[in-house]
Amino acid sequence: MKQVAILGSTGSIGRQALEVVAAHRGELGVAALTCHSNDALLEAQLASFQPAAAVLTDYAAYQRLASRYKGPTKLLYGEDGLLEVVTDQTVNLVLSSIVGFAGLRPTVAAIQAGKDIALANKETLVAAGALVTRLAREHQCQLLPVDSEHSALWQCLQGEAADSVDKLLLTASGGPFRGKTRSELADISVEACLQHPNWSMGRKITVDSASLANKGLEVIEAHWLFNLPYDRIDVVVHPESIIHSLVAFRDGAMKAQLGRPDMRLPIQYALLDKRRPESPWEQLDLTACGKLTFEAPDREAFPMLELAYQAGRSGGVLPCIFNAANEIAVECFLAGRLPFLSIPVVVETVLSQAQSFKAEALDEIEFVDAWARTKARECCERR
Ligand code: NDP
Ligand code: MG
Repeated sequence: MKQVAILGSTGSIGRQALEVVAAHRGELGVAALTCHSNDALLEAQLASFQPAAAVLTDYAAYQRLASRYKGPTKLLYGEDGLLEVVTDQTVNLVLSSIVGFAGLRPTVAAIQAGKDIALANKETLVAAGALVTRLAREHQCQLLPVDSEHSALWQCLQGEAADSVDKLLLTASGGPFRGKTRSELADISVEACLQHPNWSMGRKITVDSASLANKGLEVIEAHWLFNLPYDRIDVVVHPESIIHSLVAFRDGAMKAQLGRPDMRLPIQYALLDKRRPESPWEQLDLTACGKLTFEAPDREAFPMLELAYQAGRSGGVLPCIFNAANEIAVECFLAGRLPFLSIPVVVETVLSQAQSFKAEALDEIEFVDAWARTKARECCERR
């Protein structure tokens, strides 16, 4: 039985991953669960799955749970706890589904310990793609995509020669503000931003989907996962979210992967290493999904996509800076301290202050990330 450590088990991906495990209990076991501060949900998950270990990275939440918990799971605290569970001998696979840059260090530690990674945390590859892919090669670990677009590309690429691929086409729903002009985006509220038309996700990625930063992060993620240059990675808006991405081949053929907008399928495909057992989720009914439409992204109203391409093409630490500045800008937006339209302004301002260089060591990348966060906070305060 494959023993999985789920980092971020109380989040949107983590909770759906536990549904996948519950549906395949004969094949998948839970070795460890982790969260930041949601001790109540973690406690319920411990009762259902009885992992050997659990980690909380918020000290008050750790103390709360430790003071009342009487079950068999070993409770651990903080980054040391995360590093302990991802390197544990009994773990075969780590699902990296913490949100943001906080997911990088435990993911790197898991790779260094030779674990395969089911990767939801795209920020890891954006901030440290060169480091993470090099370590994965050196330690012979698989990076199994969980993000629905990358899972779709991975599925389309099965059985195909690398040199037959022309382009990757990432689909984007366009988010809740598709079709709006820049001026119509001026007074966007946090509540409006959190209403995604097709997907139910964590708050940060939902804002990223509305600004198209998410698609920008995914372009960089695809560059590292599939080792293709940026001019061979395109984005097409597909508001119905039925086609999860496409591969265009050199002979003119295209392959697409279709499914309901439900993360349990890509999570299951990664956790079960490309196998396709019957799953209990509702299947796609083509006659019920109506028209499938496509349009070009509006790069003027949503400048985060172009900024991500620019950062990706410049390379070095610029994608790391793009990610860090975006994380701070989104945090300020969610706190009501920054208008929606200022998110790309903050990111562009921080990128314009940066010098690009190659940083391949983890502590260098963490230094750059911290620098970009400070600059982004200063910028948010001025706006
Ligand atoms: P959520 O916000 O729903 O969940 C985040 C998880 O990470 C929670 O378990 C949270 O714990 C934990 N966490 C938050 N901050 C920290 C921290 N500083 N240290 C340790 N743990 C922390 O996020 P999602 O599940 O939506 O997204 C997770 C990742 O997956 C992101 O990188 C996202 O881009 C990616 N992804 C998500 C998709 C989705 O459909 N949701 C689709 C594709 C990719 P607590 O609950 O205690 O705060
Ligand atoms: Mg995605």
